[in-house]
Amino acid sequence: MTKARQVEKAEEERGRGRPAAERAAEVVRGSEELFQRTFELAGLGVGYISLDRRFMSVNNRLCEILGYPEHELLRLRGRDISHPDELDAINEKRPQLHAGEIPCIRLEKRYVRKDRSVVWVAVTIVLERDAAGKPLYEIAVYDDITARKDAEAALVDSEAHWRAIIDSANDGIIVCDRDMAVVDCNAAAERIVGLAADKLIGTQGFTSILPCVAEDGSPLAVEERPLRRTVREGKPLSGVVIGIKRDDGSITWLLVNTGFLRRPGEQSYYGIVATVADISAQRRAEAAVRDSEALFRTSFELASSGIAHVDLDGHFMRVNRRLTEILGYPENELIGRSVKDVSFHDDRDVTDPQRARVRAGELESVRFEKRYVRKNGAVVWVNLGVALVRDGNGTPLYEIAMFDDITERKEAEVALHEAHEELKRSNSELEQFAYVASHDLQEPLRMVSSYTQLLGRRYADKFDPDAKEFMAYIVDGAARMKQLIEDLLAYSRVGTKGKDFKPVEVGKPLRRAITNLKAAIEESGASVTYDSLPTIPADEVQLAQLFQNLMGNALKFRSPSVPRIHIGVQEKEDAFEFAVRDNGIGIEPQYFERIFMVFQRLHNKGEYPGTGIGLAICKKVVERHGGHIRVESKTGEGSAFIFTLPKQQKEGTNGG
Ligand code: ADP
Repeated sequence: MTKARQVEKAEEERGRGRPAAERAAEVVRGSEELFQRTFELAGLGVGYISLDRRFMSVNNRLCEILGYPEHELLRLRGRDISHPDELDAINEKRPQLHAGEIPCIRLEKRYVRKDRSVVWVAVTIVLERDAAGKPLYEIAVYDDITARKDAEAALVDSEAHWRAIIDSANDGIIVCDRDMAVVDCNAAAERIVGLAADKLIGTQGFTSILPCVAEDGSPLAVEERPLRRTVREGKPLSGVVIGIKRDDGSITWLLVNTGFLRRPGEQSYYGIVATVADISAQRRAEAAVRDSEALFRTSFELASSGIAHVDLDGHFMRVNRRLTEILGYPENELIGRSVKDVSFHDDRDVTDPQRARVRAGELESVRFEKRYVRKNGAVVWVNLGVALVRDGNGTPLYEIAMFDDITERKEAEVALHEAHEELKRSNSELEQFAYVASHDLQEPLRMVSSYTQLLGRRYADKFDPDAKEFMAYIVDGAARMKQLIEDLLAYSRVGTKGKDFKPVEVGKPLRRAITNLKAAIEESGASVTYDSLPTIPADEVQLAQLFQNLMGNALKFRSPSVPRIHIGVQEKEDAFEFAVRDNGIGIEPQYFERIFMVFQRLHNKGEYPGTGIGLAICKKVVERHGGHIRVESKTGEGSAFIFTLPKQQKEGTNGG
C-alpha cells in the first residue's frame, strides 16, 4: 500500500459517521500538507512565481540552490539574481508561454548566489491558469547543473589543451577510426605529408593516395601500408621507414609509428593513431657520410703514400696497401702490431718527444725521417708525417701517419756526401801537389834562368845573331815560367796558407789594395770610390788580394776613356754583397764562367799582360769565406764583379 493510500484509509476510518463536506475539507487539508511535505523534500528546487515575477513560495532546495534564505528570496525576482549575461533569458520566452504557444520554458542559465558564486541551473517553467484560462501563477523547477557544466568546461579545456599540444608537435599525428579512415590530423602531418587536412580526412591514410616506396626504394605494396599492417598484425608498429615520391622525383622519407586507441578497460580498439616524422634531412646526412666514407676508403687505398691509423698505444689499427708494400708485411701481420716493432733499432724512439707535443696540442703535426726494417730484414728510409685525430671534445682518438719511401733519395744523399768528401780529399791532395810542385820547380827554374843569363853575359861575343835570339827566348820563357809558378803558388796558398778569420773592417784591406795599385791608378788618372764598408769575419790579407786583383783588372782592361772604379756594398739577409764596377772593355756573356778558371784568359799577353790566375784566386778566396762570386757585364760598357761574404762564419769553416 502506498503512503498516500494509508493516509487516505486512516482518514476514512477517523471520519466515519461525519458529514461528507467536512470529510472532503479534511481530505483537501491532508493533501495540502502532503503536498507541502513533498514540496519541501523534493531534490529539485521548486518555486511559485507570481505574475509580477516575484517568488511567492520557494522550497528549501531552491533556497540552497540559489543561496538565499527563504525570506530574502521571497522579496526577489528571478531577474534580480540572474547572471548579468542572462538577465532576460526567461523573460524573452514568457510571452510565448503566456500566449499558450509553448507548453513550458526550458533553459539552462546562471544565477549569482548571495555569496557571489555562480550557479548553473536547468529551469523548467509552466503556467497555471484558472478554469477560464486566465494565468494565475508560474511553477518553476530548478535543477543545479553546476557540476555538469564544470565537467563540460573541463572537457572543453582538456580538448583545447591536447589540441594545442598535438598541433604544436613536430611530428605529424594522424588519427583514424577502426576502419582505417582518417578522422583527424595535426598541422605537422599536413606539412610533412604535403596534403591539407580536408584532403587527408576520409582516406585510408596518405599511403593510399600518394605514390609511396618502401625503405629499399621499391614501390610500397598495399599490404605493407602501415595502417593495414597494424590491423593485420594486431600490434603497434614502430620505426617503419616509408618514402613519398614527389612530382619532381625527390623522395620525402618518413619514420612511421602506429598505435591503437582504446577506451579504458576495453579490449577492442576504436581507432588507430599514426605518427610520422620527416627524416629526409637525416637520410641525406647519412648518405653524405656514406659517400664521404667511400671517398675516404678509396683515397686511403689508392694513395701513393703509405697511410696508417695508429692507436694511442702505438699499434697499427688500419693500413693501406701502399704501406704493406713499403714495410713488406701483409696487412694482417701489421694490424695490431706495435709500430716500434718494425722500426729500425736506433730510430725506435726518435719520434716520441715530438709526438708527445702533438698529443699535448702544441703542434698540429710533425715530420721525421726515420728507418724501418722490412719483413725480409732490409732497411727502408721513410719520410714520416704524424697528425692526431680528436673527437668533438678534443679527446685524442688515434694518430694518422703518412709514410713515404725515401730510401733511394737517402742512398743518393749518402753517395753524394761520400763523393763530396772524396772530392774534397782529392782537391786538397791536388792543392798540396800544386804547392809542392810549384815550390820545388822554382829552384831548378832559378838555375836555368841564372845560368842562361851567365851564359849570355860571358859568351855573348861568341854567339852569332841567331844564338843571341834563341838565348833571349830562353830567358823570356824562363821569366814567364817563373811568373806562372809564382801565380800557381799564390793560388795554392789560398787554401793551404790562409789565416784564421778575424773581424775585419773591409775598408782596411781595400785601402791597402789601393795603395799597392797607386802607380797604376796615378798613371791612368783613374778615379776610385767606395761605399762605407762593414766589418765581417775574414782573412784580411786575402781580402786585400781579392780587391787588388779585381781593381788591377779594372785598370788593366780599361777602355779609351778614363777608368772609373766604384766598390759598393748591399746588405742581404745573411751576407754582404760587394760589387767592384768599372767602365772598361766589358766581357762577352759566354766567357762569364770560364774567366774564373785557372790560366783562362780572353786575350793574348801581347794585348794585355797576365797569366789568367787572378780571378781564379778571387773565386777561391770568396769561396773559402763561404761566399760566391759572379760577373755582370756588357761588352764595351764595363763589368761588375759581384761577390758575397757571410756576416757570420759557420762553425768549423773558420779558415776552411
Ligand atoms: P789576367 O788578368 O791575368 O788575364 P784574370 O784571371 O784576372 O787573368 O782574368 C781572366 C780574364 O778575364 C782576363 O784575361 C780578361 O779577359 C777578363 N777580365 C778580367 N777582369 C776584367 C775586367 N775588369 N774587364 C774586362 N775583362 C776582364
